[in-house]
Amino acid sequence: MKKHKLLIGGEWVDPQSGDWFESVNPFTAAPWALIPRGSKPDIDRAVAAARTAFYRSDWRGLTATARGAMLRRLADLIAAEAGRLSEIESTDNGKLIAEMRSQLNYIPQWFNYFGGLADKIEGRVIPIDKPGVFNFTREEPLGVIAAITPWNSPLMLAAWKLAPALAAGNTVVWKPSEFSSVSALVFGELFESAGFPPGVVNIVTGYGSEVGEPLITHPHVAKVAFTGGDKTGEHVYQLAAKGIKKITLELGGKSANIVFDDANLDDAVKGVVSGIFAATGQTCIAGSRALIQRSIHDQFIDRLLDLAKTARMGNPLDASTQVGPVTTRPQYEKVLDYIRIAKDEGAECRLGGAPATRPECGTGWFVEPTIFAGVKPEMRIAQEEVFGPVLSVIPFDDEDEAVRIANDTIYGLAAGVWTTSIRRALSMSERLEAGTVWINTYRAVSYMSPFGGYKRSGIGRENGMEAIREYLQTKSVWIDIAGNVPNPFVMR
Ligand code: NDP
Repeated sequence: MKKHKLLIGGEWVDPQSGDWFESVNPFTAAPWALIPRGSKPDIDRAVAAARTAFYRSDWRGLTATARGAMLRRLADLIAAEAGRLSEIESTDNGKLIAEMRSQLNYIPQWFNYFGGLADKIEGRVIPIDKPGVFNFTREEPLGVIAAITPWNSPLMLAAWKLAPALAAGNTVVWKPSEFSSVSALVFGELFESAGFPPGVVNIVTGYGSEVGEPLITHPHVAKVAFTGGDKTGEHVYQLAAKGIKKITLELGGKSANIVFDDANLDDAVKGVVSGIFAATGQTCIAGSRALIQRSIHDQFIDRLLDLAKTARMGNPLDASTQVGPVTTRPQYEKVLDYIRIAKDEGAECRLGGAPATRPECGTGWFVEPTIFAGVKPEMRIAQEEVFGPVLSVIPFDDEDEAVRIANDTIYGLAAGVWTTSIRRALSMSERLEAGTVWINTYRAVSYMSPFGGYKRSGIGRENGMEAIREYLQTKSVWIDIAGNVPNPFVMR
């Protein structure tokens, strides 16, 4: 088993604790890598390295164009390593190789796009209302950014933070999930080759409480960019608030995938299946509630069952596998708990509802693709994020009821609408309380399009032009051009 090291100040170092922990392959349930157990002294060193790098001329003194070119060089290196990195991710988090490969092939675009934006960060000249004064704004980096990422799409969600943060001229200390740290550490090797000065990106692995908390509360961290569950997000927000730190939170969801009776049902069935089973339901944007118009409800469920039953489970490293294991044992137990809760609440289990014992699932943590019908909007299975392959089907009569049910959750990350009516599509896109609305498609994301949550699904936006602003602060500069100092006792 490879024993990994931390990346601090451009050097690969052992953790101060002298401890490592095992990362477990979810398909075999066997350990396959040793991850450094970082702690506060490592964070102190990493933040100090990032702070030094932030002020050093080989980073701060670079032109924005040179900084952008560095990001684009990194993009090329990622593209060259995409195969290796996707295999590492799939081995580490159990997600399908097909999914991880497509993410890795796409990740370079974040560094190309934000690399391109680096030299388009411009201030404004304000036609100020005071004679004899010139006023303009500068957009400046914040300083050291704490990036904290989850296990489900480890490098992609890191790219969403690192690319805009670096393009804006910040430096970064990155804490990946304890369950998916290997790809982060291998990815770390690329920064030096791309020409990033030492300390611009530092990686400290370890547990949330031992690494995440000292990082968030470190006085020299200017901003926290976090993706994870909403309960952790709430805690992270509280910790960051004590230091009045800027924050971006990308949290969970309970997204509604809404099918109207005028929809193309072939497409809608595929859309609902892909919304919940494609990533074994382990995605923040999972369409975990299917809202089906009552007039097509029964026939739609039959078609849904027909397609879901064909899902091939097995080794995530096999390109033909469609549903892989659940990433961690606690998560596997949580999914099975929710299945029990749904049954106790009276939901009708129409598919799955148990651990998968198919021979091709080996010793991994597999749960059968599960569909509950007869779900009432107030049931826990319809309100709480399961983060597994469990779908709740809820009937509705008309648009008003669909909107009411869809919006009746603490979350607001995404929603899908299946309809052939343009009027209905536009009306629903306006009425749904979600940061992303997909019409006749699902799970589409791009580096160009802002992504983030309404309500408890998050704060701030990643991707698109909006994202770079999350890593900048505005300075207003006033210059007297009249040469007369006015009355000192009155505000100018
Ligand atoms: P967690 O919230 O458990 O963890 C996310 C990250 O936070 C991990 O790196 C974790 O470290 C760290 N962390 C945990 N506790 C603390 C703490 N006290 N202080 C600082 N950091 C801490 O989420 P998961 O990794 O389980 O990921 C799944 C969750 O992420 C889901 O709920 C999902 O909805 C959400 N998610 C949201 C997305 C979005 O964009 N909105 C996208 C993808 C996922 P460690 O691993 O060591 O515990």
